[in-house]
Amino acid sequence: MAVREILKMGDERLLRIAQRVIEFDTNALHLLVSDMFDTMRAVNGAGLAAPQIGVDLQLVIFGTDAVNPRYPDAPLVPRTVLLNPVITPLGEQEEDGWEGCLSVPGLRGLVPRFSRIRYTGLDPYGDPIDRTVEGFHARVVQHECDHLIGKLYPMRVRDFTKFGFTQVLFPGLDDNADD
Ligand code: ZN
Repeated sequence: MAVREILKMGDERLLRIAQRVIEFDTNALHLLVSDMFDTMRAVNGAGLAAPQIGVDLQLVIFGTDAVNPRYPDAPLVPRTVLLNPVITPLGEQEEDGWEGCLSVPGLRGLVPRFSRIRYTGLDPYGDPIDRTVEGFHARVVQHECDHLIGKLYPMRVRDFTKFGFTQVLFPGLDDNADD
């Protein structure tokens, strides 16, 4: 069990293009994934990307097996470890949704994302993942994979009248004080 420090916006390590994972099913990789889940759970995150803990690899985790208090109305997304992901939008349709980020504590913004995507990649054993998803699941994947190309969600906000502090925008939401 190791909860790692989450880097915050302004840290240059969040702006890198992450390196591809080339070794699979190693102790180091399994330990990293385990630490990432410990870290995500500790702060009730919906997902976490390796660059957020300073690891320069194309590795994201997301999903929960239970309702997340930070996103109480969100549908369940299967617990997933995704390496070297590739996202293909299916159609032009976008939808707006509120996002937060563990690297941007205390804030939420309305972000347009593709409604339907296909994503492919590998799991930690090197086995392929290939899914077609929509809605919140598609949003989480797009948010997390953005971290692998140095993009944080505020860079995707188009209407800055819909960007602010969580406790002001959503006073009733059960949110971490420092997130
Ligand atoms: Zn994030």
